[in-house]
Amino acid sequence: MELACLDLEGVLVPEIWIAFAEKTGIEELRATTRDIPDYNVLMKQRLGILDQHGLKIDDIQEVIATLQPLPGAIDFVNWLRERFQVIILSDTFYEFSQPLMRQLGWPTLFCHRLVTDDEGRVVDYKLRQEDPKRASVKALHSLNYRVIAAGDSYNDTTMLGEADVGILIHAPQNVIDEFPQFRSVANLDELKQAFVEASSREILL
Ligand SMILES: [Mg+2]
Repeated sequence: MELACLDLEGVLVPEIWIAFAEKTGIEELRATTRDIPDYNVLMKQRLGILDQHGLKIDDIQEVIATLQPLPGAIDFVNWLRERFQVIILSDTFYEFSQPLMRQLGWPTLFCHRLVTDDEGRVVDYKLRQEDPKRASVKALHSLNYRVIAAGDSYNDTTMLGEADVGILIHAPQNVIDEFPQFRSVANLDELKQAFVEASSREILL
């Protein structure tokens, strides 16, 4: 039995925090783990900024609902789901990704949760577990699935390493250079081809 595991941001949808920062014009929200390496510090800062601007979960979702999946992503997900069981493994939050997942037809998503209070203010977040993408692939292996995984960045590399076949897509050159063991493809059409070749079954393109 075979499963496809996909990263979300940078593969199927834009980087949500960056796109959200662009839509709202709130520059400070563009900070990523490259600027603030401690993820907890970064997240506390993001939640503080949302609060300062009076943005509640409904406002945030309204903005995110104006974003679109990357070109070709909806067709790609439909193509993949006809041929594989698909699970999206992401470091985003359900509440954040919801408007984009709706556009993708609600594929299965394993990610994290935001915590809101009675007024809809985002007050905290809950990470599901340590190294969640890798842990998910391990768990799927324990269910006797062969796993083909694809992602675009550092936070995918443990997932790609744990998978039976790991594929980089849209990855920055430094990630491609640092992880030459993973095949690297430039776009979703090439990713289809890579899934066909990685499958142990006869798959039609
Ligand atoms: Mg990504």
